Amino acid sequence: MIPGLSAFLPSVEGDKLTTNRRSMAAKNDSSVHPVETTASRHLPPDYQTYRRRSCETEWLRTEWLYSSIDETEGTARLDKLRECRKFAWFARNKHTGLVRVMSNACKLRWCPVCAKARTMHLMTQVGNWLHDVSNPKFATFTMQHTDAPLSHQIKWLYSHFRRFRQRKAIKPYIRGGIWFFQLKRSENSAQWHPHLHCILDADFIPQALLSAEWLAQTLTSSVVDIRAVRDVEKVAEYVARYCARPAQLSEFNDQDCIEIFSVFHGRRLCGSWGSGRLAELTSQPTEDRFDWLKIGSYKKVVAMQDTSARAKRIISCWLSQEPIEDGIKIRDLDEQMNGWIGRAPPDVGIEDLDFNWKGFEA
Ligand SMILES: [Zn+2]
Repeated sequence: MIPGLSAFLPSVEGDKLTTNRRSMAAKNDSSVHPVETTASRHLPPDYQTYRRRSCETEWLRTEWLYSSIDETEGTARLDKLRECRKFAWFARNKHTGLVRVMSNACKLRWCPVCAKARTMHLMTQVGNWLHDVSNPKFATFTMQHTDAPLSHQIKWLYSHFRRFRQRKAIKPYIRGGIWFFQLKRSENSAQWHPHLHCILDADFIPQALLSAEWLAQTLTSSVVDIRAVRDVEKVAEYVARYCARPAQLSEFNDQDCIEIFSVFHGRRLCGSWGSGRLAELTSQPTEDRFDWLKIGSYKKVVAMQDTSARAKRIISCWLSQEPIEDGIKIRDLDEQMNGWIGRAPPDVGIEDLDFNWKGFEA
């Protein structure tokens, strides 16, 4: 029996991408300032902790993974991860008056906070592309379970899929697409269950043809699922999530985590071909650094939220996404750099409440 898409859909509980709808509640109540009286009281004292709140389990698992890798490889990935979002200032856009956080990103592949930022960007790119495709399809190619090492299975899947796209019987149907991996352990056996998903820019293709051609290509596997994309936003989010990070580390044991890390090290997690290249998966969103002026460090402003009307105002405008008046600023006497003094400045960008992180233009 061909497994349905639902079998592959990830659990998103507790790891939602967007959690910031409290601003709507704030706008609906004009008698008090709920943001100031409730949400801000719960703001953690540093920005990294604020961002980690929605992915704490994954964060801790990633810390464990990088510390293990550092031990065997002599690298300093854990330090890099722990500095992610540590440099953090509130900044005001000089044109719109909007408040965002200027912060650094570690950009490590398995950092769950950076992965959310990448997901947001990819979701836009994939969503825009999907809107331009007339009849997009979602396909899943699986391989027969084996005891072969995971690295062999991933290579196998990738190389057969590349050749499959070139097959005479298949090529005329497909104008292009985007592919990505997803990793699971089989529920029945302990074997790996890697599979390759793709969204296709293609007219109707008989499922039986796909299945027969996949078998002809691989000689062992015939399971292919294909369906029309009905909810573009949902599919774009799903694709973007896995293009950014192909597995939830907290779902795997220690040995598996290390294996997953090495299998994907230096390997692309997703790709596109033909018309799919228009999705620009590798593009980076940017902002003009001169549009943003610092108005107070995150730590200082949050520390002063109960004693300073200006600090309260900064936090309120940040959370409610309303413009702030020019001139409101919290001075930081030592202009502290959160530990960055004397080192190369971190890779800094601007981030909104929904994890849209944009680096500054060079
Ligand atoms: Zn990071």
